[in-house]
Amino acid sequence: MSESDADADRIRHLLAAEGDQIKANTRHFNAERYAQIDDIGSERHEHYRTSTREIKEDAIERLPELIEQVRESVADNGGTVYVADGAADAREYVAEVAEGVDAEHVVKSKSMTTEEIDLNEGLEARGLEVWETDLGEFVIQVAEESPSHIVGPSLHKSREEITDLFEEHFDPEESLDSAQALTEFAREFLGERIEAADVGVTGANFVLADSGSIALVTNEGNARKCASVPDTHVAVAGIEKIIPSVEELHPFAELIARSATGQAIPQYLSLLSPPVDTPAVDFDRPDEPDFGGSDADRDFHLVLVDNGRTEMRADDDLRETLYCIRCGACANSCANFQSVGGHAFGGETYTGGIATGWEAGVEGLDATAEFNDLCTGCSRCVNACPVKIDIPWINTVVRDRINRGKDPGLEDVLVDGLVPDEEAPGTPLRKRFFGNFETVAKLGSATAPVSNAVASLSPIRRVLDAGLGIDVRRELPAFQRETLVEWAEGRTTVADPERRVVLYPDVYTNYVQPERGKAAVRTLEALGCAVTVPDVGGSGRAPLSQGMIATARDKAERLAADLGERLDAGRDVVVVEPSALAMFRREYEKLLPADEYERLDDGSYEVFEYVYGLLENGADAAALTAGDGDGVAYHSHCQQRTLGLEAHTVAVLEELGYDVVTSDVECCGMAGSFGYKSEYYELSMDVGESLADQFEDTDRTVVASGTSCTDQLEALLATEARHPVQLVAP
Ligand code: SF4
Ligand code: SF4
Repeated sequence: MSESDADADRIRHLLAAEGDQIKANTRHFNAERYAQIDDIGSERHEHYRTSTREIKEDAIERLPELIEQVRESVADNGGTVYVADGAADAREYVAEVAEGVDAEHVVKSKSMTTEEIDLNEGLEARGLEVWETDLGEFVIQVAEESPSHIVGPSLHKSREEITDLFEEHFDPEESLDSAQALTEFAREFLGERIEAADVGVTGANFVLADSGSIALVTNEGNARKCASVPDTHVAVAGIEKIIPSVEELHPFAELIARSATGQAIPQYLSLLSPPVDTPAVDFDRPDEPDFGGSDADRDFHLVLVDNGRTEMRADDDLRETLYCIRCGACANSCANFQSVGGHAFGGETYTGGIATGWEAGVEGLDATAEFNDLCTGCSRCVNACPVKIDIPWINTVVRDRINRGKDPGLEDVLVDGLVPDEEAPGTPLRKRFFGNFETVAKLGSATAPVSNAVASLSPIRRVLDAGLGIDVRRELPAFQRETLVEWAEGRTTVADPERRVVLYPDVYTNYVQPERGKAAVRTLEALGCAVTVPDVGGSGRAPLSQGMIATARDKAERLAADLGERLDAGRDVVVVEPSALAMFRREYEKLLPADEYERLDDGSYEVFEYVYGLLENGADAAALTAGDGDGVAYHSHCQQRTLGLEAHTVAVLEELGYDVVTSDVECCGMAGSFGYKSEYYELSMDVGESLADQFEDTDRTVVASGTSCTDQLEALLATEARHPVQLVAP
């Protein structure tokens, strides 16, 4: 079985086995998160995000100094700090602490860092009994599974599945056939383990450098029991969890539960400065003075785990992974994750979009190879992240590094000669094909319609499937013989124009869907703009999405120079395809010198953003095609929504008299080349089903801003889908 067939099987299995539960839970959290942002207002939300980002940037910058400060403050409190270089080191230290107090029983609260270092396995191997006391962690401990989500480790399981699991495992006297019965059973079972525990292990959401305090955020209250019932407490945290003081805690406290589960505040936010003087309770003599507390001093150990983090800190691209507060919002807002969950979209420990950064940093690149391609770069997680981490960029960089680490196969060497680019020889043939779509489109258009007819022949489709993994169920794009640039050549421009505009002919609009480009030209001309469509190259989106950063940078540099000349000559750049505009506004910041990025960022507009501006400044809306109450079902492109540009299209359509309903799914599932790939076809369609559900019975005209979105809608609904500019063009 090929690697791609194995991936397809794995994803198919997880879609069927865990998809419904993951969808229901992640979408619930995601919807509640949006409700919380509405509740506090986007301005306040953004203010907190800016603060958290600044605090984390500063803390990671000053990390060595803050670690030393923590050592001193914890020592002043009477505790011990141990900085573990790696996972084995950390496990060994915790085991020695436990053995030092002759421990037999250990209880734990939820901690991803202890998952990362395989602490349970390490302690059990030394003969200790370890129990997870967080309900979700308890479930997966009993099930002997790995977490499927950073915050909700067992959210892939239904209540019924947990009942079956517990009844089989524990054989209880009473039925556990309700959420309440399960919770009561777990509470009693774990309560007994906590009472009997010799050592309590917790994580720490934040470590406060100046006081040596730890902040624990939970919904079940189990962490503070683990921390305070046994007289030995070990807190295990990554070194990145340190912030300077309690003053910096506030914006995190505002955002962490809102981002994670859509709660205004967590059920418990405990600030502990262990070890405390209060004696531990003796549960055999709880009514005696001092609760029967022993005379034994409490003992506290803070284990700060490095395990690759110092190298991540020194790595310009992975560094911001260390700002992560592990809220899971990136997973909940990710359409692919919503369908398939963390057992596909994640590594051994970490799940969701940020898993790539964490797994690459603590385990190495190989740990990310299986799931990294599940990130389509849609960018929906970017605004969801409470610390403004550029998660798709981390995924892209890691993809690039994986490409570079591959040994070239024969076909890669051959294609390297045929399709020269800036990439390393190991970059797989298929990635080169999709990354060089501009070359394919040029050839396809120059030889259309023959190219389209040949490509659709069954034997050719089978070859494309076998050689490039292009799924036979997906209709291929039909190249147009006359490109948008050719159509626009020699077109009479508006005399005495209000504004001069360059319409950017992205690859897909130019070679595959020139009609939407023509509609954009006619719309802008009707509003008094002189429009030119220059013969310029691709934006680099296609190679970037394959992790071919050098090729993308090369294209970005050429295009920025070409469009820059026109911007300097007083023209505005208008873009039809949102993924191209997102390159100009987001990714070019990483690919170009600052001045070139800023010039293009300032001077380029999405087509409806531009039309909206023209109408606001007095252009005559009557020059466009009015809606007269016609119904429109509109799906905005994911990257357009991340840029905050969905509202402009809706506003223009409504001003022209259209009755607009919008989709509220995060992504259509197609995402450029992603939906064409055999192993991801079913996932792509599963994600798309949610969009289809919203539009399938509509008698409205279906429109979408992205080329991928229109292709996907046509596949799902078997109806025509157009760009909204094709509605309003005269
Ligand atoms: S960019 Fe999109 S696909 Fe990638 S992790 Fe973020 S939400 Fe998921
Ligand atoms: S990357 Fe951001 S959204 Fe994702 S878990 Fe970390 S803090 Fe939360």
